[in-house]
Amino acid sequence: MSTARPGAYRRVAAGPPAIALTSCPACGSPAEIQSRFVLESTGGPIEHVKVACVQRHWFVMPSDALCWARRVAPTTTDG
Ligand SMILES: [Zn+2]
Repeated sequence: MSTARPGAYRRVAAGPPAIALTSCPACGSPAEIQSRFVLESTGGPIEHVKVACVQRHWFVMPSDALCWARRVAPTTTDG
């Protein structure tokens, strides 16, 4: 008895999950950005990221230090 019914269950595969990838600062292997958080500093809050690579290296660094990070910063002229 065949239970394969085309169309009965269609998996919603609209694309890969939203995983941010970068390269490991130590070995250059693909690394996943696991979390983002903001740490206060003397110069104001700085967004940090936790990065874990496939070689099990992990780092916490400012998001600006990521090689791929090209955030479009608003050009403010405060101060
Ligand atoms: Zn690594």
